[in-house]
Amino acid sequence: MRPFSYQRLLHPRDVAALQHVSSRDAYIAGGTTLLDLMKLDVMRPERVIDLDALSQNPDFGGIEVADSGLYLGALVRMADAADHEHIRGNYPVISQALNLAASQQIRNMASLGGNVLQRTRCPYFRDTSWHACNKRTPGSGCAAIGGFNRMHAVLGTSDNCIATYPGDFAQALVALDADVFIIGPHGSRTIKFAQLHTQPADEPEIETTLGPGELIGAFRIPAGPWTRRSAYVKVRDRESYEFAMASAAVALHLDGDVVNEARIALGGVATVPWRAREAETRLAGKQLDEAVALDAAAAAFADARPYEHNGFKVQLGKATLVRSLLQVKVMEI
Ligand code: SF4
Repeated sequence: MRPFSYQRLLHPRDVAALQHVSSRDAYIAGGTTLLDLMKLDVMRPERVIDLDALSQNPDFGGIEVADSGLYLGALVRMADAADHEHIRGNYPVISQALNLAASQQIRNMASLGGNVLQRTRCPYFRDTSWHACNKRTPGSGCAAIGGFNRMHAVLGTSDNCIATYPGDFAQALVALDADVFIIGPHGSRTIKFAQLHTQPADEPEIETTLGPGELIGAFRIPAGPWTRRSAYVKVRDRESYEFAMASAAVALHLDGDVVNEARIALGGVATVPWRAREAETRLAGKQLDEAVALDAAAAAFADARPYEHNGFKVQLGKATLVRSLLQVKVMEI
């Protein structure tokens, strides 16, 4: 690991007071992503800024339940949110997405904010002996496009990068139309969570709309008639401590068997947490059965672009979405 300087923030006002922030700085909370990538020499921050003490502040480390929705501080540990009784009962898609991620030990350490910002698991990105990786070294090419790309994305790719977004919790936030509060040296702002991640296009090295020195303070998930009838289905190579080959976060507002409103986000198949709006449109006003679910799944993957080894993800992604829709339909709430 390369030498770096270390700074600890003790109060939210310390964020506003940060000096000379740049892309050579990195925030650390649980450390479950950053330390790995520093040891691999993939990330080389010159200054590591420790946020952990801010978790004692309720704005960063609290969970609040209100009639209008749910507030989750970005420094809440994944395990604490996953096991929160109100979240389990009223926002099951959040609880399930968190519990199906990583291992219990990692969930005990990792923060919600860090989790949504985790970097791709593309092996060419994480192994610096590969030269060609536009995300790690802009302009160097993409070893995955002509290489072994079984785990890579089929939606939202570009000719410069096909890396899969690896998280789970983010899909739940996208499906539930969450907002994200962002703070930084130049003030604070709120955006839709769906606007946080960016597709690779011509600049795969840019993964979010966060500016220099900005960090996630909290998430707000609005209440709605769909939050209790929600679930996260994750399909992976093994049933524990593994990333998704395909996943679906689904929330439904039903009137009997008829879909008033559907909210769907896909994981494991796209470069960003992927809102499947075409599928949602196909479901609206329909009586939900297997044929309707299959039609929605076909719409979700109509623009899929498979590569040499990951063509199976199109069928797997469709099947995962169908299974999650039919599972959510029969939930007892
Ligand atoms: Fe790098 Fe993206 Fe290509 Fe992977 S898919 S090698 S992260 S440019």
